[in-house]
Amino acid sequence: MKLVTFRDGERVAPGALVGDHVADLSAAGKSLLEIIAKHPEPLSLETAIAAAPRLALASVQLLAPIPLPARNIFCVGKNYAAHAREFQRSGFDATSTGQDIPKAPVIFTKAPSTVIGPEVSIPGHLDPTNSVDYEGELGVVIGRGGRGISRQAALGHVFGYTIINDVTARTLQQEHKQWFLGKSIDGFCPMGPVIVTADEIADPTRLKLRTWVNGELRQDASVSDLIFDIPTLIETISRGITLMPGDVIATGTPEGVGIGFKPPKYLQSGDRVNITIEPIGTLSNAVA
Ligand code: MG
Repeated sequence: MKLVTFRDGERVAPGALVGDHVADLSAAGKSLLEIIAKHPEPLSLETAIAAAPRLALASVQLLAPIPLPARNIFCVGKNYAAHAREFQRSGFDATSTGQDIPKAPVIFTKAPSTVIGPEVSIPGHLDPTNSVDYEGELGVVIGRGGRGISRQAALGHVFGYTIINDVTARTLQQEHKQWFLGKSIDGFCPMGPVIVTADEIADPTRLKLRTWVNGELRQDASVSDLIFDIPTLIETISRGITLMPGDVIATGTPEGVGIGFKPPKYLQSGDRVNITIEPIGTLSNAVA
């Protein structure tokens, strides 16, 4: 199942993609967040989708699948070895301890107000330091919540997967010795275009992630290269924090971000960033 949030005129509603139509799931819940909480096992949605009225996909606008998360997005820093090394070399890691590969997951968050949908422009001008960078990432959406979730049980708590662009103001990230300000500017978290439910992705380590800027391939990696895999991330975060339905974990970005180049290739107004992870699709956003 490919689940979405869509705008139809003034109305915003949850839905599912069925061919070139959207099944309107309004009868199942006011929002995708509510539907995830009611149906943490996505297969239980099949009946609702079969009975739902259809709208032509071309007649609606897809928003971020979770346009306003209930709380901050959990993010993982330096979770691909080659990216951890490029970040260390770049000099932008103010929290560096001199070791490039972390011994435990590096967790930070992005505010809910960062989320924007596919095809919405990234407001790069809100970064006063003009150092906007992209980070293509696999996003994990939690279904059944819980605390103290073991590695072995972790994938059973995953509702589905989406694409995240962890847009970052690098100079703010560096100057403030903590990543929140540089990562949480309004509109700095494109998400989407859909959530593919976990039943369709039996093994997320087989997923491939590629990022293009203006058609130039910048990131090309396999999720199997994660230093800390998805079960480890869920176990680590939930050790003391109760994960809730609809929580999103951005699993980290691979090598090839703008600051990996000398001089850095920051995003400029008019640039377009495309991030593809099949079968989720392509998350495409221009920079305002
Ligand atoms: Mg990131």
